[in-house]
Amino acid sequence: MIIIKNSEQTALMKKAGRITAEALLLARDMIRPGISTKEIDKRVHDFIIKCGATPSFLGYGGFPGSACISINDEVIHGIPSERKILAEGDIVKIDVGARYRGYNGDSARTFPVGKVSDEALRLISVTEESFYEAMKVARHGNRVGDVGAAIENFVISNGFSIVRAYTGHGVGAELHEDPSVPNYGRAGRGPRLYSGMTLAIEPMVNAGVEDVRVLKDKWTVVTADGKLSAHYENSVLITDSDPILLTVVSEN
Ligand code: MG
Ligand code: MG
Repeated sequence: MIIIKNSEQTALMKKAGRITAEALLLARDMIRPGISTKEIDKRVHDFIIKCGATPSFLGYGGFPGSACISINDEVIHGIPSERKILAEGDIVKIDVGARYRGYNGDSARTFPVGKVSDEALRLISVTEESFYEAMKVARHGNRVGDVGAAIENFVISNGFSIVRAYTGHGVGAELHEDPSVPNYGRAGRGPRLYSGMTLAIEPMVNAGVEDVRVLKDKWTVVTADGKLSAHYENSVLITDSDPILLTVVSEN
């Protein structure tokens, strides 16, 4: 069931989104060679709690962290660990969720660690740009397939591949709500978008093949060919015109 949010609910979604966005900025500012993903996770956790919210991911399906932190060929759902140390040249995906008064924000970014390859930088920027291609069509009256097609066409035309095994989703009182929002699709197909829908739109883009597998820890998703993957996600509110980005804050 797709849930349309009223103005009171969207106000809470904006607050949850703001906390999520600020937590991600804090995480970004900690990134350097030598830091463990556990240290970043702890900072994200403590900040969300300080804001009067709770980390949406902590305990979700048994997940042991407040952030999913995934390095290089890890696509999503990386488990924070003292043994996972960032190194110069890595790319790191940080995915954060915060629940505030019953409503969730969900957002992810991919960051370079020090100096990274030109290919890695291009992968990161194409992934981000594909999200903004989706924003051009994510509005009342269009369809979920318009969003997926916009992402897919942009990514494929730039020579990268789309992860199909995982998708974006509705977000609200539940972290994952209907509808599923694939990062591929056919324009004009799928559920219709309505003002008041809140969606987590999140392209996952691989440098090599689209195939992924799950590691023995039962969480970490990695690319099948060991090549790099990037992720970019915001929670957005669908309106009659441009969507409102719930998990983006200006930085001053
Ligand atoms: Mg997420
Ligand atoms: Mg999500």
